[in-house]
Amino acid sequence: MKKPKLLLLVLFQNLKDADPYYARTPAPPLPGILLAGMTPPIVEVEVLHEMVRPIDYETDADFIAISFMDYLSPHAYDVAERFRKLGKPVIGGGKFATTHPDEVQPHFDSILVGEAQNVWPQMVRDLVAGTLKPRYTAEPMPSLEDIPPPRYDLVEKTFTVPVVTEASRGCPHPCTYCQLNINRLPYRMRPVADVIRDLRATQTLPWYRRKMAMILDNNLGGNLQNAKALLKEVAKLDFWGIGTQFSIECLRDNEFVDLLAKAQCRMAFLGMESLSDKSLAGVKKRQNKVREYKESFDKLHRRGILTFTGLMFALDEDTNEYYESLPERLDEVGTCVILPSISIPIYGTPWYQQVIREDRLVDPDISHYEGDHLVFRHNHLSDDEIYAAYKRVNRIFYSWSNIIRRWWRFMKKQTRQEPPILFLRRLFLTSFIYFKLSIFQRHHAQHRVFPALSSRSNSGEGERSETMTRAA
Ligand code: SF4
Repeated sequence: MKKPKLLLLVLFQNLKDADPYYARTPAPPLPGILLAGMTPPIVEVEVLHEMVRPIDYETDADFIAISFMDYLSPHAYDVAERFRKLGKPVIGGGKFATTHPDEVQPHFDSILVGEAQNVWPQMVRDLVAGTLKPRYTAEPMPSLEDIPPPRYDLVEKTFTVPVVTEASRGCPHPCTYCQLNINRLPYRMRPVADVIRDLRATQTLPWYRRKMAMILDNNLGGNLQNAKALLKEVAKLDFWGIGTQFSIECLRDNEFVDLLAKAQCRMAFLGMESLSDKSLAGVKKRQNKVREYKESFDKLHRRGILTFTGLMFALDEDTNEYYESLPERLDEVGTCVILPSISIPIYGTPWYQQVIREDRLVDPDISHYEGDHLVFRHNHLSDDEIYAAYKRVNRIFYSWSNIIRRWWRFMKKQTRQEPPILFLRRLFLTSFIYFKLSIFQRHHAQHRVFPALSSRSNSGEGERSETMTRAA
């Protein structure tokens, strides 16, 4: 007998069916394929990442599950409503459903609150049996042992790097804007053997799609001893390149940096966020020291590891003078690629509570909380000053001449420590990753940052925001 079919929808970036934006990142987010791996074999599973293909409302799937973040919730509710009108039961889950279940629940037949590993299999069995309950709540800190590997075979071919996994959850730092600090949990690690098993569970992929991987932790370096033990094991695998993410102070540990290189790490995402110590202190990100950036980034570059760094605008201590000098200072510290965004007071974070306490929230439309909108009143800068700086840094950093110049600067730091063929492979791979990331960010600037800002000034929205700012 044919199994019923479950469609796992992962929403990301595309905010509306009527006005889609497809953010084609090189690797898929983890939740969809991770959930697929945990799904009992009583259903057939399809995973659809909306960032690379539109939602198929004509799908032959019997059941729908939707994973989404806070700013995507209005879109997720619309999608759920459309499927429910077609008579298909819809489950909601993800970080926002976990932190704000009472708001999310009315829009779905059922929601999953918390981490899925011990709850999801029963939810699927109830779904198939027609006995689904409105809410399934996981225990606060379920074990991270024996989580099944993600279903890499279900990743769309559009993604260059289908192999993604995680080695830990949480982060030890108190950054006030971070979602992890809504209902803070201790930093937890998965067993190294489980992570290695995931990275090897790629037999269903063609050989050339098994050669790169991403470890998508919030902070791989939350426990450096564990991270080092993992990297030693990853070094024994046959990867051409891996990417990962960790907090910037981990780079003080030279053994960690060496092990990253031995594990064929070719890209590190770092939460740099600001080149102002005062602004960093304002969001309790004191582990970052601006004076250390250049040397820390250089350590990675010399070992053939690209730096991809977050950069936040509209932090409370930012000034116009700081914004004015930012392009030059970014050049001085030498980061390869930046991910610029406007600071977001995510619902429930300490930063959100501060903005509410100080009566500075001016835009409650949660679909604007994606990093390209200013939704609160800054302490001393106008909306227009912040938007102008955001646009200017995007424009200068992602001009073609600067993209090429940074690539050449990185290439000049490369020295050969391996056989010539492997050295050439490293140069080729880092160039490929560098241009892929730079073009992706340039595309984002052209399709999200600049049009949004020009429509804002054409429609006089800037003026309205200023008026609201002054009135409030
Ligand atoms: S270091 Fe990064 S992951 Fe950790 S709390 Fe700060 S923002 Fe969140």
